[in-house]
Amino acid sequence: MDKTTLQQTIQRWYRANRRPLPWRDETDPYRIWVSEVMLQQTQVTAVMPYYQKFLARFPTVAALAAAPVDEVLKAWEGLGYYARARNLHRAARDIVARFDGRLPQTRSELLTLPGFGAYTAGAVASIAFGEPVPAVDGNVKRVISRLFAIEDDITTAPGRNRIQAIATEMARTAAVSAEWTQALMELGAVVCAPARPRCLLCPAGNGLCRARAAGLAESLPVKPRKKPVPHYNVAAGVIYKTTTGPEFLIAQRPLEGMLGGLWEFPGGKQEPSETLPHCLQREIREELNIEIAVDGPVTVVNHAFTHFKITLHAFFARLIDGCPQKIGVANWAWVTLETIDRFAFGRADRKIIAALRRLAAENTLQVGNFRDLKV
Ligand code: SF4
Repeated sequence: MDKTTLQQTIQRWYRANRRPLPWRDETDPYRIWVSEVMLQQTQVTAVMPYYQKFLARFPTVAALAAAPVDEVLKAWEGLGYYARARNLHRAARDIVARFDGRLPQTRSELLTLPGFGAYTAGAVASIAFGEPVPAVDGNVKRVISRLFAIEDDITTAPGRNRIQAIATEMARTAAVSAEWTQALMELGAVVCAPARPRCLLCPAGNGLCRARAAGLAESLPVKPRKKPVPHYNVAAGVIYKTTTGPEFLIAQRPLEGMLGGLWEFPGGKQEPSETLPHCLQREIREELNIEIAVDGPVTVVNHAFTHFKITLHAFFARLIDGCPQKIGVANWAWVTLETIDRFAFGRADRKIIAALRRLAAENTLQVGNFRDLKV
């Protein structure tokens, strides 16, 4: 197949069919960078409400760098994969310190910043600065594996190398790098979908795509079979003091790692042969060095993360001894339902807050009721 014809056909299709998204035709490298980070592992429809709001709050690299990380996490709350927000913030500080507040213009310099892997560096370098380098994410891997009927497993070195070589060559030969990078992404997002590629609507569907010609469109790319997703039971405490009104203890997760820097109702994973109340007492002792008595359940939340699922069992729990200490947590705070929204929480904990608000609406959120409460 003639790669030039293929490339020109896809670019023509892109010019005529691209979706009018808020970051299209953007020329500010900072705004392009934010859009690329938000779009990783996240659907366009989920990103839309966050993009403009985030940029209104942090309009420049300098504004982002000057903000506390808690504010950045709050602006990111609900978008998921919070390491992206923490890295965006770290990189903004690095750009201010080392590059006078302006994003460096080459892929190799971008790669020196926190959170910039090959994909983000390639995307920003090509879209913002026109450098002829590829940006290979899962979408682009899928599109290239189909266009060129690559039957190697794309998670192995031979598969990865073949795709990378084709992507690099095509980035070099593209007339306009920014347009080519976005055209490939758009084809993967809109037409060459993972489960059901829409070959009849595809600019390459009429003889240019090798997978389509060979009847392989739906069986590519080749990937190893998915492992079963593990499931864990997790206990969380809505901990209160008997001496005050409904004030609850929340804890901030350590800044590194999953959901790092977000706030939560403290608790943790149930060990084998442990009841949920015992699990909660152990976790609270280990993380905060306080003793609690576990009361009635608040709610049960099922939640799926990328590599595992949890059932989160939230209980009311009385503080019976000690003052919280930062042992396994970055911070802690006593909050009410009026003040809790100042803090950034993950989705599962937001459902616990919603359950507490339902109780408050029924007028049953009173300390004396917690031992018998069932939601
Ligand atoms: Fe994907 Fe089908 Fe287009 Fe090939 S023809 S690139 S498989 S949508």
